[in-house]
Amino acid sequence: MKITLWRFAHDCLPCGHPLQKRHIPASPLCIFCNQYESIEHALLFCHFAREVWQQVKGEYEVHLQRQLFTSPRTWTLEFLDRCSKIEATVVVVTMWHLWDARNKTREGEGPVHPDSVASRVKAYVEMILQHLYKPATLHKCESSSPSLKWTPPPEGTVMINVDAALFASSRHMGIGIVIRDHMGTCLAACKESLKEVTLPELAEALALRRAILFASEEGFSSIIIGSDCLSVIQRVLATFVDRSLMGPVIEDIKRTQLTLVK
Ligand SMILES: [Zn+2]
Repeated sequence: MKITLWRFAHDCLPCGHPLQKRHIPASPLCIFCNQYESIEHALLFCHFAREVWQQVKGEYEVHLQRQLFTSPRTWTLEFLDRCSKIEATVVVVTMWHLWDARNKTREGEGPVHPDSVASRVKAYVEMILQHLYKPATLHKCESSSPSLKWTPPPEGTVMINVDAALFASSRHMGIGIVIRDHMGTCLAACKESLKEVTLPELAEALALRRAILFASEEGFSSIIIGSDCLSVIQRVLATFVDRSLMGPVIEDIKRTQLTLVK
């Protein structure tokens, strides 16, 4: 994803107008609004990009300072000079998803809505923040593996990575779900929060059940789920009926056809 920002700074993302200047056959016009498609138009100024940025800014503190824009390179250097680590993460993730949405629309993969781009951005950012900048109050279930290395699923199958985080002070939990194909391309993502959940293991089980439901809502049937919560995996794999507090959630998960990986 960082490469998107680097290519933005060097004005070498293959969008319409620059491609035409290099005599490569392409429409010089923006797929969303028919204006000349410069790189800054695609990622900062197009109404499509603005709508996504507006939603992302509703969630995170981001200062794009578009009014000071002179060139991609200057803008990027100035931005990197003043931004926080989290702000840089949010901007890189948003730009990458904007670029991806533009390419998908150009390739005819149906209309992409700014809302869905923004929710993918938020899910990705949440996942990064949970792994890199964990707050002290965050409680996690015991992990089955110390590494967070992602292993691609076989072709024709999708991998769902789900993560739950519990915030004791506000008694709520956050769920982050990302669905990827065998190439690692993000196909769908979502983030949700649930109130009044205080047990780490129950939070992980609820997140897992939500991930399975989300995959079926998105039309995926051949799925592999990655969860790092050892005790929930053991409960789901157990042959006896779970009569614990989280039993109903575990039994719901068992009823679905799924492959669990640690
Ligand atoms: Zn446009």
